Amino acid sequence: MARILVSACLLGVECRYKGDACPCRKVIDLIDGNELIPVCPEQAGGLPTPRTPSERVGDKVIMRDGTDVTIEYKKGAETALYLAGKFNIDYAVLKANSPSCGKGMIYDGTFTGSKCEGNGVTAELLIRNGYKVYTEDEI
Ligand code: SF4
Repeated sequence: MARILVSACLLGVECRYKGDACPCRKVIDLIDGNELIPVCPEQAGGLPTPRTPSERVGDKVIMRDGTDVTIEYKKGAETALYLAGKFNIDYAVLKANSPSCGKGMIYDGTFTGSKCEGNGVTAELLIRNGYKVYTEDEI
């Protein structure tokens, strides 16, 4: 039995910017025999659903309309870190490519669908605090 922090959208929660989910069978199957702790950092940071999409631009996170939402992303990341500590998680499984949850590769800030090396704000904070983070593609 492992305790796993999970991007809520991977479990079927309709929390993505478009108001939909991206359920992943491999992640949902982790419910059997493990304890899952779902979190959507963007909602936890106070952003609405649906919402204008955002991408990381350096240390900031910017919506497509130019709004700076770095503070909301950081607040969501702090919430995920809080839950990781409270539940003493073994590792996290987070949604690939997201400006919050992505690990290794994220959208590159041009809103063209192109990606670059980097981590989402939440993945980055968890990794910096010593947590193992995997994407749904890695489990
Ligand atoms: S912030 Fe993470 S959990 Fe929330 S919709 Fe985006 S990828 Fe999914």
